[in-house]
Amino acid sequence: MLTKLLWLNILVSSVLLANAANRPPSFFYSAKGKAAFVDLLSADYTVDYYVEGKKGLATSELQFKMLEDGFPVLECDNDVIVAYIDNAKVETEKIDLPGKVGKMTLIKKYLSKGTYNILIRNEIKKNIAFEEKGVQSSFWMSDLDRGSKGYLEKYLPTNMEYDQYKMNLKIQIQGGKAEQIVYTNGELISAKNDAYEISFPEYFNASSVYFHLTLKNRFVEIRDSYKSIVDGTEFPLVIYSPNKSLTEDLHKDALKILKELEGDYGKWPHQSVVIYGIGRAWLGGMEYAGATRTDLNALGHELHHSYFARGVMPANGDAGWIDEAIARWRDNKYPVRKTFSAQANLGNRSPYLKTTHIKSYTHGMKFISYLASKVGGKDALKSLLARLVDTRVFKPIQNKDFINHLETSSKANLKNLFNKHVLNIRANIQEREKNHSIEENPYHLPETEEFQLSTL
Ligand SMILES: [Zn+2]
Repeated sequence: MLTKLLWLNILVSSVLLANAANRPPSFFYSAKGKAAFVDLLSADYTVDYYVEGKKGLATSELQFKMLEDGFPVLECDNDVIVAYIDNAKVETEKIDLPGKVGKMTLIKKYLSKGTYNILIRNEIKKNIAFEEKGVQSSFWMSDLDRGSKGYLEKYLPTNMEYDQYKMNLKIQIQGGKAEQIVYTNGELISAKNDAYEISFPEYFNASSVYFHLTLKNRFVEIRDSYKSIVDGTEFPLVIYSPNKSLTEDLHKDALKILKELEGDYGKWPHQSVVIYGIGRAWLGGMEYAGATRTDLNALGHELHHSYFARGVMPANGDAGWIDEAIARWRDNKYPVRKTFSAQANLGNRSPYLKTTHIKSYTHGMKFISYLASKVGGKDALKSLLARLVDTRVFKPIQNKDFINHLETSSKANLKNLFNKHVLNIRANIQEREKNHSIEENPYHLPETEEFQLSTL
């Protein structure tokens, strides 16, 4: 994600194994048992939009695996209307994560190891609007701990970012009279005006999905393709925005940026490119897998995230600083620093944290510049990052995986540098004070719910 401040300052089994290794430890719930993180295997989501009644209702059928005995926890921000496990009704409860760093939805049924099905019904209340006898609904997300934060859980039951699973999304519009259109980074299996079916790849997680259901003709779009400079593959390219000149400028820039990124980090890792332009500058953007909702200025930053963030994926909030630091390093034209003394804790906070540290953009970026000088310069670090994409794309990483990759590939000893400058638990207190006095300035306005609604 790129915010206003910055511009101013500035395959199935292997997937399952990785998911299991990256989940946070289970934690105390009650004397009857622990709260346990699960492994989602698949989700069939159906969203019914009732135009007359002005309501969006989701029915989600999830298959999940209990990797240990306990009470399963899932991500679901909305109130659960009703839930069933293997056809038996179950109660749910919102509980605090250890350290109160966030909330999860606990299913009040003790389960032993094994595979289960759960059906959950909830209303979708965020980023939804009924007008002109149609519906507008989007799954806008934010990874920052302010403003309108949250991933897919703002709309549908899902899991934390460590978990990748196969998703299918059915959309049904009841009683609509308007012409509708869906923009998505999934495969559109069927598209009628009032019914859509979208299939997402199995490596997607809660932060990958791009979904924007809107009124047709609201936006000016360009449908083109991007031809890979690596092997000639043609990727569908869809660009849309409220006006023609912005769409054209995004198109022009996107073709240039995609070439640049492919030159540095290899072939575009996604199946398509979707770009929604919300303005020219000062609005920032948000990344999705092979997609972005962004201003023209932030386009390069957000497309870069399709390599780092939604390509090489953070396994949790503590790994979230990595992609922001690397994206800012690119925005700043890959500077190299010989010295660096500042210490912070961007990624050693809690395995339960879901959000990215705000100083990733500044302190994190400086650390990456410093790291470049330790591994042989700008080009040396860029090629280590390209190798990371090559070997770890769509495999969620933690800090230890990032460090291991860099150390193994460069033969440099880097662990201590990370521990001192970006994973330093002793830097906590000082950093928090600074955050409040300096970082929280009036220019860093959060992406509010009103702002997100205005871009439906
Ligand atoms: Zn970003």
